[in-house]
Amino acid sequence: MKKLLLDELPQNYPLEGYRRKQVLEWVFKRGVLSFEEMSNLPKEMRAQLEAEYTLEPFIKSESFHSRDDSTKYLLTLHGGMQMEAVYMPYLDRKTICISTMVGCPAGCKFCATGSMGFGRNLSVGEIVGQILFVARAEKIAPQEIRNLVFMGMGEPLLNYENSMNASRIMLSEEALNMSSRRVTLSTVGLARGIRRMALEDVNVKLAISLHAPDEDTRRALIPTAAANNIDDIMDAALEYQAVTGRRITFEYSMLSGVNDNLWQADLLADRLERLISHVNLIPMNPWEGSGFQESTESVLQAFYDHLEGRGIPVSVRRSRGRDAGAACGQLALKRPLENALV
Ligand code: SAH
Ligand code: SF4
Repeated sequence: MKKLLLDELPQNYPLEGYRRKQVLEWVFKRGVLSFEEMSNLPKEMRAQLEAEYTLEPFIKSESFHSRDDSTKYLLTLHGGMQMEAVYMPYLDRKTICISTMVGCPAGCKFCATGSMGFGRNLSVGEIVGQILFVARAEKIAPQEIRNLVFMGMGEPLLNYENSMNASRIMLSEEALNMSSRRVTLSTVGLARGIRRMALEDVNVKLAISLHAPDEDTRRALIPTAAANNIDDIMDAALEYQAVTGRRITFEYSMLSGVNDNLWQADLLADRLERLISHVNLIPMNPWEGSGFQESTESVLQAFYDHLEGRGIPVSVRRSRGRDAGAACGQLALKRPLENALV
């Protein structure tokens, strides 16, 4: 089987010097997906690359357009498993939400991806390839996508090396040249992974999915919480901030009657006192069979006001793409993983 060219970046990339530059320009600036189109390379070189490598991580795709203009792409990988990426063309901020896994082993109770179980990790090329694929489908250059969130399927810190190397390609000047302020990696809150990330040369924004300030509620929602208590996550966040100097976002999906009480807003504010942080409240995106409901508007507003009153920077993230099943936490295949082969 042919190797995925993007999997060879950055370490084992087969070309050097200006040839490397030429190929990277074709791939990342012009978004070509075949070596044949690389007209400034000698014919033999194109044939050689073609014989050994492919630029296509996906063998099939389907798209689902939402009323608010988001598009969900259901992508089939070599081997037949499927995963999803979402494109959100907000005005001048073209944003993509990418996956790092097929399914997810973390099993958060309110997350449709978590309910699928774990398929497999995506390779570097399969992660970065989502950007190239979506750009091509949307008829824009890959470098026009300026915002990226690791908020699709999967837990990036459980596919650590590939997520880091994919981020390096996103930020690298010779590849996607994205701004480090516009790439956000979201984690379920794995203290060891956060500490490890602090020491990487990967300058992206970190978002931690906290979802509850008290152990009991958090453990009921997030199975990995048992091995990552909130104190430890907060210590890891402090260390991360001490090393990187970066503001940390805390994500908080508002689940009616579960984590939206005012005492929890208070405790959350206590937890964040020592950090430079920002809280992102996400109204729960419903999916069939989840057993959870989104908080009412008035409860959401009261929670928001309470945090604001305590001096915590807070915003509400209203997910796009709900009607196409493309919002945060709604990415899941309609059929079970064991039948995921086409
Ligand atoms: N695995 C990572 C990133 C993917 S999920 C993580 O958990 O952080 C991106 C965000 O959507 C996370 O904050 C996640 O907790 C949240 N989320 C999951 N399911 C959701 C749902 N049904 N409604 C709202 N947010 C949800
Ligand atoms: Fe995995 Fe994140 Fe969903 Fe939890 S919320 S199951 S970590 S994708």
